Amino acid sequence: MALSGQLPLVSLPPQMQAELRMSGLAGHWGACNRCGLCQRRRHMIWGAGSLRAPIMIVNSTTSGYDNQNGTPLAGPGGELVAHILTRLGLNPARDCYVTNLVKCLCPKKSEEDGTLRRRLPTHDEVEVCKVAVEEQIKIIDPCILILYGQQASRYLLGDPRPLAKFAGHWRTYGKRCVALSAYGPNGLMMGDDSVSKQATYFNLWLETAEKLNLLGRMWRPDAQLFQDGWAFNPPAPIGQLGVSAC
Ligand code: SF4
Repeated sequence: MALSGQLPLVSLPPQMQAELRMSGLAGHWGACNRCGLCQRRRHMIWGAGSLRAPIMIVNSTTSGYDNQNGTPLAGPGGELVAHILTRLGLNPARDCYVTNLVKCLCPKKSEEDGTLRRRLPTHDEVEVCKVAVEEQIKIIDPCILILYGQQASRYLLGDPRPLAKFAGHWRTYGKRCVALSAYGPNGLMMGDDSVSKQATYFNLWLETAEKLNLLGRMWRPDAQLFQDGWAFNPPAPIGQLGVSAC
């Protein structure tokens, strides 16, 4: 029941409803100390992008770049994603919401030199933190969910297999969302074969844009990109993407 003097949430426009729900959720998680990862983080990575975006990206872990900058998908991987989206006529800020499954860096002290390295989060750390991302997915209500890294698929789709067994596969998530399991872009940009891996990655986004054109028009006709008249036009084949490897 609405309190006296307040509008019931359902009478507000969808954008405003989403903003209110997300700010309430972000406030609830605030300076979270639900697990020990709060002790060494520089930033907790909440999320970035449009709350009405038809595409939502969930990274499994918080990278060192994210922790340093305070934003998800920071660093060369994020640059690659933004570059590809732009090439497809999409706008990263308008058409994607990005967040992390585990919102704080998982550091591990090296036994060799004492420096801090990154490790995978434990089962308990993911279980406690994934509650936030599940609520974020309900608010964003995407038609396409991109899950980067094994743990995002393990904990959101319930698939315990190694990522190599299902990377590139699409599955349903709920009643009106499809989810793609994929390797995170930062990993793709390492090594001598990064250029050929970037081309493969571009093709995954091409497939995503086709699906967005079909499913997004059915499930998210309110999304700003459709209001702006975006339609899928296959771009010319790529040569070099022009994003430097890390
Ligand atoms: S990892 Fe998640 S649950 Fe743990 S402190 Fe950070 S935000 Fe809280």
